[in-house]
Amino acid sequence: MRQQDYRFIALGGGNETGGSCYALKFGGSRIMLDTGMRYSPDHSVRVPDITPLYTDWGLDGLWDLDALIFSHAHLDHTGALPVFMRSLHGVGIYSSEATPDMLSALYHDNFFSPLKRDIASMSDTFITLKYGETHTLKDFAVTLYPAGHMPGAAMTLIENEDCRVLYTGDFCTFEQYTVKGAEIPEVKIDALICESTYGYGTPPGKLNLYYIADRINTLLAKGDVFTCTVRNSGKAAEISAAVSECISRGMIPEIDIWVDAMCEKSCRACEKWGTRKIFGEHVKPMERYSHGMMGMIITGRPSGRMYNLSLNMSNHADSYEIMNLIKITKPDRVIFVHGVPYEKGTHHIVNEVRERYGEAVEAVHSVNSEEINLLKE
Ligand SMILES: [Zn+2]
Repeated sequence: MRQQDYRFIALGGGNETGGSCYALKFGGSRIMLDTGMRYSPDHSVRVPDITPLYTDWGLDGLWDLDALIFSHAHLDHTGALPVFMRSLHGVGIYSSEATPDMLSALYHDNFFSPLKRDIASMSDTFITLKYGETHTLKDFAVTLYPAGHMPGAAMTLIENEDCRVLYTGDFCTFEQYTVKGAEIPEVKIDALICESTYGYGTPPGKLNLYYIADRINTLLAKGDVFTCTVRNSGKAAEISAAVSECISRGMIPEIDIWVDAMCEKSCRACEKWGTRKIFGEHVKPMERYSHGMMGMIITGRPSGRMYNLSLNMSNHADSYEIMNLIKITKPDRVIFVHGVPYEKGTHHIVNEVRERYGEAVEAVHSVNSEEINLLKE
């Protein structure tokens, strides 16, 4: 096995969160993982820089790729697809079964959508793989495992007889209200490509019912209707499920939860592919709202209302979950992506792995456009 036959490059989402797009030289094959867009602070959109594939890897076009595999539907992992779709002609695009539906719902709801094109018809062309089933593509095999981050999110295991790589995508090992926790494959991995959104410090945490109930009771004491503004429509299902849970446990009064048009389609997709029914007794589409009712409006629009419930929630792994993943999969090399890289002397997941495992596990943080070995040196 030759080192130069197994290489990794981040075309976006290496030393930053968002814009995820990675490429693997995997034996005789060239594989792309995700192709996301990234919002700059000025709200302009950036797509992955695929130049190294031409200059360094000798591709004539993206049509030379052997596969494009999506980890999940979030736009920071899929949003650049409309830009690249034409040059992907003939390339197999793979995802979990739920991802095409989730993707077209997110594009439908997408609040900014500068790249919005006919994503629904693009996602119709995806080849979907069932979790846990191994498919042989060209000279490598792919198996998807539930990643727990959102309905349809997958960890991608790629292997041939020489090498086994696991790409986590975004993952979460704890059960959320609409999706079960990740199922980690119990196999020895050569290289782990691992998200590190919370490589530094502590995530905002999972939704806490006691906190939510306390906030809602306080808001209801002030007025009959309040809003809950979400930054992306994907959070709406999870929040409406958590508030429904508060109602059924008697922690808050029997209020109505109205989901506005910007969030409805993704809630319906979550209902189809997640673990929980969303719409029903308490959760209703916004059109059912009429003046004088008591409850909560979930909206993608910053509301002018005085009373707003803002909830910070994480559906990403924290450092404990990442360390546990490493313990189970025993990688020789860990390439951290989708996060801010460490600086010397600060606490970061890269340092934590180095301190715990020493020479046994080689931990590095990827940098955009810098090609590195996939395998331990
Ligand atoms: Zn995500």
